[in-house]
Amino acid sequence: MIACDCPTCRSTDPHDSRLRPSIYVQPAADTGILVDAGPDLRQQALRHDIRRVDAILFTHGHADHILGLDETRRFTAPQGQAMPCYGDETTLTDIKGMFKYVFDPATPKGGGLPALDLIPVTGEISVNGHAVMPLPILHGERPILGYRFGRFAYLTDCNAIPDATWPLLHNLEVVVLDALRERAHPTHFSLSEAIEAGHRIAARKTYFTHMCHDLPHAETNARLPKGMELAYDGLVLEL
Ligand SMILES: [Zn+2]
Ligand SMILES: [Zn+2]
Ligand SMILES: [Zn+2]
Repeated sequence: MIACDCPTCRSTDPHDSRLRPSIYVQPAADTGILVDAGPDLRQQALRHDIRRVDAILFTHGHADHILGLDETRRFTAPQGQAMPCYGDETTLTDIKGMFKYVFDPATPKGGGLPALDLIPVTGEISVNGHAVMPLPILHGERPILGYRFGRFAYLTDCNAIPDATWPLLHNLEVVVLDALRERAHPTHFSLSEAIEAGHRIAARKTYFTHMCHDLPHAETNARLPKGMELAYDGLVLEL
């Protein structure tokens, strides 16, 4: 947190140094899928040497998940194609509002604009032939999307899983769940709510994401149930 002196913000453990939540999925060597494009995208792509993005899947249109979208010019420039950007209708409207200059025909060309192809999610998505299943979840009042790639599912920014989505979470190897902090929050799972959801999903391994500075990495991990851990920046999972 800016201007915070709490133990997590002052920690020397690199696991406590957290950029905004986002993941990069490689279903095959020749395909890279980004889930969300937050304000730290440039730094994350440089740090983790992300060179190829074939599509971006948006969970929702909050600033911490879309503000890095302009950076994706670097991924479309070599191929010269528009970046497929998937999201629900609300998210695509949020993107058009936030990045007005990209979609305004009056914007002078030549300064470098991202080429974006906004595609509404209506069912299963295919990226280079790799299937991705959208998972409707609730972020407060707002329905948003998680995504399932084979036996891996990513559910950030949620405080409830609708009845119809539970069957889509069966038989997972790994699930990533939102867990903001201990105290209840109107739009995010608290840690105890996330643990409860994790037990019900019963993946082989459960990781938590979107933690705030209330949850120091090592101290929190030490008291989590078996098979559950806080994720951290740079965590790589092979499935
Ligand atoms: Zn702090
Ligand atoms: Zn959000
Ligand atoms: Zn968020």
